[in-house]
Amino acid sequence: MRHNKSMTGGPNLKKDYIFFCDAPLQRLSRWLRILGYECHDCPDLSSGRIIFPRELDELSVILTRQRSLINLATQLKLPGVIIMIVHNDWQSQVRQVIEALKLPKPLLRLERCLNCGERLRKVDKTSIQDQVPSYIYETQHNFCQCSSCHRIFWSGTHSRHLLSQIDQFYLPQHTGKGPMDHRGHREHRE
Ligand SMILES: [Zn+2]
Repeated sequence: MRHNKSMTGGPNLKKDYIFFCDAPLQRLSRWLRILGYECHDCPDLSSGRIIFPRELDELSVILTRQRSLINLATQLKLPGVIIMIVHNDWQSQVRQVIEALKLPKPLLRLERCLNCGERLRKVDKTSIQDQVPSYIYETQHNFCQCSSCHRIFWSGTHSRHLLSQIDQFYLPQHTGKGPMDHRGHREHRE
């Protein structure tokens, strides 16, 4: 059984976490993709079945709202980390994950498909001319395409409101409730 103490500290570098989201957390899952992470929706978890779309390792992070799932994962000694998401609203959920794992602010958001989560690749503008609205074609310069679902993205789709939302995630909070104790929300299996 591998221990994962190394994940709790260390410098604030981007780690290639792979997220596995319980069904009610789809919006959180989408945002983790926007932040550049591989993220899988795991609808089976809600029915208590421990089924994952790929093998877990020490960089796996399971996100759930079910206490029972955390107990089960602990019994099974699954590798990686499991985080109990305590908030109802998706902004607070994203913030909880960012703070719990100390996720650095991303430099580039055009990394992953908002639809399916696969990595995007840059495409030559002329090659997709007939696939985007003409005003987009005229006004945008950088286009990316998903290698899996072939959806096309341009900087407008990962738009200014996304960027300002990301800024919001990284602003200090003024809740007046004092600092949150994240240790209570995060489970390490030793
Ligand atoms: Zn896609």
